[in-house]
Amino acid sequence: MTGTTLIDGIGLLYTGDPEREEIPDAALVIDDGQVAWTGPASRAPDADERVDAGGRAVIPGFVDSHAHLVFAGDRTAEFQARMSGEPYTGGGIRTTVAATRGAGDAELATRAFGLVNEMLAQGTTTVEIKSGYGLSVEDERRCLEIATVLTDETTFLGAHVVPSDMDADAYVRLVAGEMLEACAPYAKWVDVFCERGAFDGDQTREILTAGVKAGLGARVHANQLTEGPGVRIACEIGAASADHCTHLTPADVDALASSGTVATLLPGAEFSTRSPYPDARRLLDAGATVALATDCNPGSSFTSSMAFCVALAVREMRMTPLEAIRAATYGGARALRRTDVGWLRRGARADLVILDAPSYVHLAYRPGVPLVHQVFHGGLLLEEDIQNPPSDVVL
Ligand SMILES: [Zn+2]
Repeated sequence: MTGTTLIDGIGLLYTGDPEREEIPDAALVIDDGQVAWTGPASRAPDADERVDAGGRAVIPGFVDSHAHLVFAGDRTAEFQARMSGEPYTGGGIRTTVAATRGAGDAELATRAFGLVNEMLAQGTTTVEIKSGYGLSVEDERRCLEIATVLTDETTFLGAHVVPSDMDADAYVRLVAGEMLEACAPYAKWVDVFCERGAFDGDQTREILTAGVKAGLGARVHANQLTEGPGVRIACEIGAASADHCTHLTPADVDALASSGTVATLLPGAEFSTRSPYPDARRLLDAGATVALATDCNPGSSFTSSMAFCVALAVREMRMTPLEAIRAATYGGARALRRTDVGWLRRGARADLVILDAPSYVHLAYRPGVPLVHQVFHGGLLLEEDIQNPPSDVVL
């Protein structure tokens, strides 16, 4: 796109910029794929093209900082059984591993591409994608290679669960050694599922330390099912994010509040496993930075909808609508250590959503209702034919 685009007639602009978060009766100018100006519509500068938002609200594109999109197979039966009374143990991950190992690259890429399109259509313009359903050197590597086509935010999660045919210590050595070496060229981040039945504190530390040494940033699946060392390790090691944070001690809350580690909450997982939600209020009141993400995965949270997570956060986790939209945009960007997305301030990538609503509050007020009117990604309007987005769209 050449020239400048003015979006005016914005009923309420949620900028995500802490310095001026909300602007009523606003306008925004896009220049060369970036936000060039925001402010009251009455003071908007001229531009080459004009888009009339018709009184609708505009928000930054959602930043989904936690998703598992490269996999094959289906876990409908497991969900159905769980909703009939069986508890969630995390053991079902191995079912997806078997299906993923048996799938060709084209099948995996098509599935992941489909989910990314599903996200785009719902206003998500940045997504992190993890490996973790390969659990062998070659399968983890190819899952990450597929992910790199779709996003810059790729995460090596070889330490998702110990494969059923391997000894835990031998597997940790493999993950921190040969597997990391093969995967690091395709990954920006390293992640570990630190949980009873997955990886303990020492194993988590060993893998994260090796990943950081290989040039990757750290993030941790921490304290999802039980209290444990995950959050503490994430804060100590300077991880960008501790994800889940469902079972926290007071010391964990303090550690998150006094570190640069974002607390990423994934209420889709609690919803889909019928589990108690994290206490977002406690984290926010302590001063922690909170992000919301989908945890989109076939086992414990098969939603790609950030709007749904916002609604859950407000209804079930006592977040205000403002705190929830902030966590789904600005918070997600902080969890990925990004300053070019997650807000609409001068110089940011022009990733934005025009909502079919007068305010972002409707995301929680009207749960389950499709409220996306138009999505701009890098200043580019994604047309209705969102099944075939431009090939240069990398989220
Ligand atoms: Zn996850």
